[in-house]
Amino acid sequence: MSHPMIVFDRVSKSYGSMTVLNDINLEIATGEVISLIGPSGSGKSTLLRCVNHLERIERGSITVDGELIGYRRVGNLAHELPEKLVARQRAGIGMVFQNFNLFGHKTALENVIEAPVHVRGLARRDAEAQATALLERVGLADKMQSYPRMLSGGQQQRVAIARALAMKPKVLLFDEPTSALDPELVGEVLDVMRSLAAEGLTMMVVTHEMSFAREVCNRIAFMQAGEIVECGAPSEIFDKPAFQRTRSFLSKVH
Ligand code: ADP
Ligand code: MG
Repeated sequence: MSHPMIVFDRVSKSYGSMTVLNDINLEIATGEVISLIGPSGSGKSTLLRCVNHLERIERGSITVDGELIGYRRVGNLAHELPEKLVARQRAGIGMVFQNFNLFGHKTALENVIEAPVHVRGLARRDAEAQATALLERVGLADKMQSYPRMLSGGQQQRVAIARALAMKPKVLLFDEPTSALDPELVGEVLDVMRSLAAEGLTMMVVTHEMSFAREVCNRIAFMQAGEIVECGAPSEIFDKPAFQRTRSFLSKVH
């Protein structure tokens, strides 16, 4: 694989006296799909949220496609970027949440065109053409004019994915994208994610779907207590984990 797309270099973060990320080092290659697994409270969401600077890091650095996220360096100091520049960085980093976070008063189509029109300044007609294509791609050609409340959870999550894709992100971050779904709706969302992975999008996926992680992800990072305990190919992590902590976690979720 080519140059790293996302680099975590000695990243640490705490809330008050509690360390939630402790010296995280991780490089994610362009086109790589990596899954973050680990017990509740281990720091998976926090790690994702740091990538688009929804959380501040206290030590270390995160770069996306070579660009330092959230800060600029002045000598040895890091100054936080003004909100406008953070917003520009975020525009290239898509995020898909457990609870979809769609605009409830907007149709599927309007949800997808919102950011391209208002953040990127795309002409409405062009944004609509693009959104139409994206909604077709996630299997929602017949739901363009539907409001979120008229859609199933799986359909809402696919709208959310189309909305993220509309910004042509360099990376896509998924935080438990199927955890809020009824079991029979999980597959349709995973299928969309599988096709994005096959197309070469760089993705970080927090998930409890172990079979998806095994089949689709290039690597699995197991987190516990704010640390990446081990990280490797799915066959290594699932079949011969090096650490007792990983083995113990996997025995509970399998
Ligand atoms: P995970 O996604 O792996 O369940 P999180 O990243 O959500 O873990 O949380 C990691 C730790 O940080 C947990 O102990 C959680 O309670 C704590 N935490 C998360 N967000 C906050 C916050 N805004 N303020 C204080 N503590 C937080
Ligand atoms: Mg979480």
